[in-house]
Amino acid sequence: MSESQSAVMNTYARSPIAMDRGEGVYLWDTDGRRYLDFYAGIAVNALGHAHPHLVKALTDQAGKLWHTTNLYTIPDGEKLARRLTEKSFADRVFFCNSGVEALEGLIKLARRYHAVDGHPEKFRVVTVEGAFHGRSLATIAAANNKKYLDGFGPAVEGFDNVPFGNMNALRDAISPETAAILIEPIQGEGGLRPGALQYLRDLRAAADEFGILLILDEVQSGNGRTGKMWAHEWAGIEPDAIATAKGIGGGFPMGAILATEKAARGLTPGTHGTTFGGNPLAMAVGNAVMDVILAPGFLEGVEKVGAYFWNRLEDLIAKHPKVFAGNRGAGLMQGLVCSADVTNLKFIDALRDNGLLTVGAGENVIRLLPPLIVEEAHIDEAVAILDKTASAWSVSDDA
Ligand SMILES: *Cc1c(COP(=O)(O)O)cnc(C)c1O
Repeated sequence: MSESQSAVMNTYARSPIAMDRGEGVYLWDTDGRRYLDFYAGIAVNALGHAHPHLVKALTDQAGKLWHTTNLYTIPDGEKLARRLTEKSFADRVFFCNSGVEALEGLIKLARRYHAVDGHPEKFRVVTVEGAFHGRSLATIAAANNKKYLDGFGPAVEGFDNVPFGNMNALRDAISPETAAILIEPIQGEGGLRPGALQYLRDLRAAADEFGILLILDEVQSGNGRTGKMWAHEWAGIEPDAIATAKGIGGGFPMGAILATEKAARGLTPGTHGTTFGGNPLAMAVGNAVMDVILAPGFLEGVEKVGAYFWNRLEDLIAKHPKVFAGNRGAGLMQGLVCSADVTNLKFIDALRDNGLLTVGAGENVIRLLPPLIVEEAHIDEAVAILDKTASAWSVSDDA
């Protein structure tokens, strides 16, 4: 279908390919072609497609109860919140439906934290260049990406954007009006750029020094993606609060804020809310996702297969120095950097034609985000397609 025939709003440069069904790490399009899925709905299908345990949880709950509102206690929500706090620094969880909602709530949490302490003037949030926090008015202001702000009126007030990885610039941006530092431990859309572990530790120390909150965007990097439950664990730090989404529902729309008791002190009855967030259907699926991710040995398996993937990519890069410039990321959140002669999006189209689905990111990166259930044999299959595509690549392909 051409764009002029579509009744769907023109906000995406959509491929005409339509997916029909999925199973594990594979997808089939409506023409019956099979693809190896190494983008997983942008890190959403954490357990691949049609995982039997998730299908059962969803269908069992579907015949029982979908929605009740947060005016009633939701037992599966209590259970999931308890499990998330047991597997994190946090004491409290707020459920919502997407990453951007989790980020909005996280920013509100940071502002209220100081307001209830008698410091409503502390509302500003220091953010970093290359960040992506979603598409709401506040989160596009937070990330300060000109492309996403253009034409949407004055940017929401209260964000100070500094260069990523630069501690001096960050400290200089902290003022008596600062409430928090907000950062992705590994930038996703910005190009799979990991924050140096020492940088993350220095951010924690700066937040403590100035009495402000360290709030992290783990929408993409959380829920086991890097081989740890949360990416910040690699730095050995504890944030005050985080936003997460994407993989947490395994494909069911879901997000969450996790916070310490202290950081959440401002969010009292009536101060924040959601109609759909944490409804029984979402909570049933969310618990099913955690049954798998939190099972003994699962995260260790992600870390192991991630290391295998990393090594295979290193070999691939060494073999094709004209096509690839390097690799970065952690666990199953890998970014293959294209050389200056190769346009990532063109290469991604060629990979798709060869049966491998990936997604682009900033800085000419190909994002590789397979489902966490991926096995070494699938990695070999993906690397073979990357190798074949790179071997066939010539400068003219980029014209
Ligand atoms: C995807 C993403 C978001 C936004 O999540 P949505 O569910 O699309 O609103 C925010 N932050 C990061 C790091 C993301 O990857």
